[in-house]
Amino acid sequence: MRPVRIWKKLLALERAVVEEVELEQGGALVVSVRPNARERGRCPHCRRRCPGYDWGEGRRRWRALDLGTTFAYLEAEAPRVQCRRHGVLVAAVPWARHDSNFTRSFEDQTAWLAVNTSKTAVSELMRIAWRTVGWICGRVMAEQQAGRDLLAGLERIGVDEISVRKGQRYLTVVVCHDSGRLVWAHPGRDRATVEKFLELLGKQRCEQITLVSCDMAEWITKPIGERCPNAEVCYDPFHLVKLATDALDEIRREVWNDARNAGQAQLAKELKGARFLLWKNPDRLTERQKLKLARLQEINQHLYRGYLLCQQLRIIYRVPCEHALVLLDAAGGCEPLIGSNGSAGSPWRSLSHSRRIARVSRVRVVARFFLPLPVTRQWAPVPRVTSQM
Ligand SMILES: [Zn+2]
Repeated sequence: MRPVRIWKKLLALERAVVEEVELEQGGALVVSVRPNARERGRCPHCRRRCPGYDWGEGRRRWRALDLGTTFAYLEAEAPRVQCRRHGVLVAAVPWARHDSNFTRSFEDQTAWLAVNTSKTAVSELMRIAWRTVGWICGRVMAEQQAGRDLLAGLERIGVDEISVRKGQRYLTVVVCHDSGRLVWAHPGRDRATVEKFLELLGKQRCEQITLVSCDMAEWITKPIGERCPNAEVCYDPFHLVKLATDALDEIRREVWNDARNAGQAQLAKELKGARFLLWKNPDRLTERQKLKLARLQEINQHLYRGYLLCQQLRIIYRVPCEHALVLLDAAGGCEPLIGSNGSAGSPWRSLSHSRRIARVSRVRVVARFFLPLPVTRQWAPVPRVTSQM
């Protein structure tokens, strides 16, 4: 193979002519190139052939992928052309995107790394500034998105918020459960943001949505309920279980206070120490905690049954669908226990409330089994702990 062809291969220069290769004093490799005859004088936006305008600002350099540990640059003239539609612009070059100081393959690699590793790691490995990584990602994404409608054919989606940077800054994000892709994101976490997405989706596509997974936030469920008539809202299991665990802790505190007020110091001490035990997954309990739990069963039946209810709710999401349905139906049997204690303002009431949610949202729980993962774990760059049960 002739040396020129080797350079073309090494630097992915299919539609360019290599004029010269030289090693600079600083150690960088500079390859002088020009677009081949077919690629010359084209508009960077519409790719049409255009008349030349002037020579622009002279020769330019594009950073290419390093050759081993050596920096590599492509150098070429950057004349301007006059497009009838887009005006006067620097002519397109086949090795780089418009308005970029990096070659196409350099940017593609950077964007791939940015998706698969941390931005700091990319910036160090590629030897570019941290901000540059962001700009490169923006250019690659814009090219990928052009002519592609991410919102087409959406049927089963997940809506959630994630916090970004420090402080109370949030993004509302929408993922497609069928492709596992992030399809939309926008700053803010309020009803107006969700409505922006629904607006963009349009009436017809809103009607095609069959399932929306989300937490119980009204700013998501209300607009979805109003504008997606065929969508079944499927609650995130984490939030459902959290309702029950919060209620269980309220019961524990009430029983503890009762014991204290009645002067039963030993009982109060035991109940106080049961807090973490009740939160913990049963399979992670230590021998000592297991003994404590057995003791709890003896000293307070109601608290223990509340604990069992919470565990059952967790199990519903872990077992196969048909078993979960049996458990959900069986949950109805707990109602008398809750009802007999459920005076207004009583913690049992909130526990009963969460049980009711579990029961009425039977379809929602069922729908959950057809989703591969809770929304927050599907795509989030920094996974939140919340969806893990
Ligand atoms: Zn043009």
